[in-house]
Amino acid sequence: CGIVGYIGRRDVAPLLLEGLQRLEYRGYDSAGVVINSPKSAALKMVKAKGRVRDLEARVPKRFSGTTGIAHTRWATHGAPSDENAHPHLSPDSEVAVVHNGIIDNASELRAKLEADGVVFASETDTEVLTHLIARSRAKTLEEKVREALRLVEGTYGIAVMHAAFPDRIVVARNGSPVVLGIGEKEMFVASDVAALVAHTRQVVTLDDGEMATLKADDFRTYTTEGSTTTATPTTVEWEA
Ligand code: GLU
Repeated sequence: CGIVGYIGRRDVAPLLLEGLQRLEYRGYDSAGVVINSPKSAALKMVKAKGRVRDLEARVPKRFSGTTGIAHTRWATHGAPSDENAHPHLSPDSEVAVVHNGIIDNASELRAKLEADGVVFASETDTEVLTHLIARSRAKTLEEKVREALRLVEGTYGIAVMHAAFPDRIVVARNGSPVVLGIGEKEMFVASDVAALVAHTRQVVTLDDGEMATLKADDFRTYTTEGSTTTATPTTVEWEA
């Protein structure tokens, strides 16, 4: 349903929670957030069925980081619950994915992964993507995501974090909107400009079949096949 992400220098959790609140008007049944941990490799995640304020109530006092992704979910595969809320984390806590849309071949992919010994933590179609990215042997995060996306059929707007690639967030779009917000030494991503306009009016709207890598100081866009695309930020008009 709703995606918000940030990479920069500011304390990320309050920014993400505020962004999720700006997406509440779209409706949702659960919410969650994952952030980097400056002191250890593992990502830190909190999720909750219910409102963004229920999620907020669960966020620990010390929950600081400078990169994160967050989600409000409208369930399509699996009931609304804490476990089915996004993000979906790999078993080693290295890979986190938030996803809008529907993976049509999720049950086949899930059966194959389970036959291979993968244990799922949720009933969602999205978790298939998490495992596919985590199990990819590709060298770069972009290539891992691309490999996973080659196997899935359906619609997605996704944002991906990986503990081994702490300097970036990788996003992709096919049939579900993804907008980049270009800041000063900070970058945002969201499924809806409403979550960005408090911070920047410079936006890049991804096309279907397009991906992007966001770093604190720059971004680049390319196709799911890997060829660079041109992305010139435009200024969005917004009545505050
Ligand atoms: N299909 C995914 C799920 O059921 C994402 C739904 C959404 O767009 O929020 O978890």
